[in-house]
Amino acid sequence: MKIAPDTVVSFHYRLRNSAGEEIETSHDGEAMAYLHGHRGIIEGLERALSGREAGESFSVEVAPREAYGERRDDALQRIPMKQVLTKGKLKPGMAIHVRTEHGPRQVMVVKAGRFVVDVDTNHPLAGQTLTFDVEVREVRAATAEELAHKHVHGPGGHHH
Ligand code: ZN
Repeated sequence: MKIAPDTVVSFHYRLRNSAGEEIETSHDGEAMAYLHGHRGIIEGLERALSGREAGESFSVEVAPREAYGERRDDALQRIPMKQVLTKGKLKPGMAIHVRTEHGPRQVMVVKAGRFVVDVDTNHPLAGQTLTFDVEVREVRAATAEELAHKHVHGPGGHHH
């Protein structure tokens, strides 16, 4: 079965950043599973998977605009310390969680003061060209329930 909209795809991957360093891998755990055609994974990777079959391996380079976007200079924000959810002393470069009107969100500390903290809300991988080494493990038709929920159930997906 070829990967097409409304198929459930399981795959293993290694992710490398612009510098060629491996920053993530699924090989130490279970394969990643997603519902194809519903923006469950980054755009450039989903497009590269389209039409593949179980057993195929490939590498794909994904530009920032099809991954986590370009870095934005207006992504620097000053946040009251009381909105910081991460406990302990804050240091520049640290990833912390803050409460926002859209729910908890991960940001990076630029400078921490006594009552406020300056953070960078860019995604850590914004501005990076990413390389994925992918092995497609399984392709199957989604169940009616998965299509209604817009996500995968079972291994590598949601459990509820
Ligand atoms: Zn569900």
